[in-house]
Amino acid sequence: MPAETHLFSCLKDNYGVLLHDPSTGATASIDAPEAAAVEKALSRTGWRLTDILITHHHADHTGGIEALKKKHLCRVVAPRKEATKIPGVDVTVREGDFVSVGSLTGRVLETPGHTAGHISYWFKQEKLVFVGDTVFSVGCGRILEGTPDMMWQSLLKIRNLPMDTMMYCGHEYTAANVHFALTIEPHNGALRSRAEEVVRMSESGKPTIPTSIASEKTYNPFLRADLHSLASAIGMEGAPPAQVFAAVRARKDKF
Ligand code: ZN
Ligand code: FE
Repeated sequence: MPAETHLFSCLKDNYGVLLHDPSTGATASIDAPEAAAVEKALSRTGWRLTDILITHHHADHTGGIEALKKKHLCRVVAPRKEATKIPGVDVTVREGDFVSVGSLTGRVLETPGHTAGHISYWFKQEKLVFVGDTVFSVGCGRILEGTPDMMWQSLLKIRNLPMDTMMYCGHEYTAANVHFALTIEPHNGALRSRAEEVVRMSESGKPTIPTSIASEKTYNPFLRADLHSLASAIGMEGAPPAQVFAAVRARKDKF
């Protein structure tokens, strides 16, 4: 039986997502932004919480852990490098480790940059990746603890996943990201249609995620820093991709 997901909004602009394995009944919450919102999602779906998979230590991704763990006695999986900053951790993981949710198997990808120990969870067979605050649709996370070079390598790791992988991120920032991306690539046709789609989606109250790796590659400027067209759009022809990426990120910080 194929895996099921349930996406929901919480806090100011966070996303929570449940990953459910129908064959065993196991359910993981990817991050735990807020216990009440996760509880609501559980009662709506009728799923039982067995695991919490944490991407990074920020409070808007971990604030719900303690209350959820107390009630559901679920297992908490977290990045080894940030385990001391995260409450209730049972299992720590690093690059290449496998994490099971019932019969589903996820692989840990270290994607530092937003935080120094940030990880993503890739479920290859299910064609799903949970990237926390590393990549957003049409955007990427702020570099708070790492370097631009580190973040660029993390983005490449996500971009290199199979094209039909569906990406779930931690926030709904797409509309603002589209506005910024259009200042970098105003003539990018894929970006312009994404802009129209995002307007339609937000008018009808629909989430703009998940998105596929294939489509992010066509319109996410941060995943396009090694394209000649993008470098030349910001007057940086011939510069190393990591530098182009850093320049785009710096512009977004000031946008
Ligand atoms: Zn964060
Ligand atoms: Fe966040």
